[in-house]
Amino acid sequence: MATLEIRDLHVSVGVGSDGTKEILRGVDLTVKAGETHAIMGPNGSGKSTLAYAIAGHPKYEVTSGSVTLDGEDVLAMSVDERARAGLFLAMQYPVEVPGVSVSNFLRSAVTAVRGEAPKLRQFSKEMKEAMDALAIDPAFGQRSLNEGFSGGEKKRHEILQLELLKPKVAILDETDSGLDVDALKVVSEGINRFASGDTGVLLITHYTRILRYVKPDFVHVFAGGRLVAEGGPELADELEEEGYEKYTAKAGA
Ligand code: ADP
Ligand code: MG
Ligand code: MG
Repeated sequence: MATLEIRDLHVSVGVGSDGTKEILRGVDLTVKAGETHAIMGPNGSGKSTLAYAIAGHPKYEVTSGSVTLDGEDVLAMSVDERARAGLFLAMQYPVEVPGVSVSNFLRSAVTAVRGEAPKLRQFSKEMKEAMDALAIDPAFGQRSLNEGFSGGEKKRHEILQLELLKPKVAILDETDSGLDVDALKVVSEGINRFASGDTGVLLITHYTRILRYVKPDFVHVFAGGRLVAEGGPELADELEEEGYEKYTAKAGA
């Protein structure tokens, strides 16, 4: 069973010409296969920094601590190796690529992760099934990657990648609060399908709204670059009512 282990992770970003600023100040978290964890916290608390650091974004420097997937050192892997090892990071390909269609992009991504190109006919079938399950218009496959995508289309694309890549652990940074209710439901159903299987899900979110549709096993509160509280789904309800104030005061953030 897959296990992602984050131990005492410290991460800094470069600011100005030569300065650095410590954003993550010792994060410990274990995500096992089949578990869904929500990380919630105020803006600027470092949630996206955690996702970027695990994704291997060059701007985010891990100064100490470790990240392992089934005992393998994730931080020593290239971005591609992380994907092959079974990590899915939603923000990994945020760029617009004119001239590359969604279906071509997905076939390349699948090829990279599986280590061989799926047969075209087989892949078309897989993609059609995945798109049907997510209520995505078949014409979406011919669109240029990310070009003019709405918030909802970006999220559907994200879940379509999950469906096809079948990662061991998926890290989803729900920075986008602009989803309409229909898109939110489709995305939530996609996440739930994974969460009920063997995939470990780390869902990062500022808003409690998505947690009406996705029921996490664990809710963690992030403040001031650290996890400061942990509970079950009831903690999300408490945050919805009371906000983050008591936690930010505690973190000195
Ligand atoms: P969250 O996702 O919780 O809103 P972030 O991880 O985006 O928080 O940001 C945490 C802190 O790190 C903020 O103070 C933000 O300004 C700073 N930060 C994040 N990324 C950068 C960056 N690339 N350059 C400079 N500061 C950054
Ligand atoms: Mg589960
Ligand atoms: Mg963020």
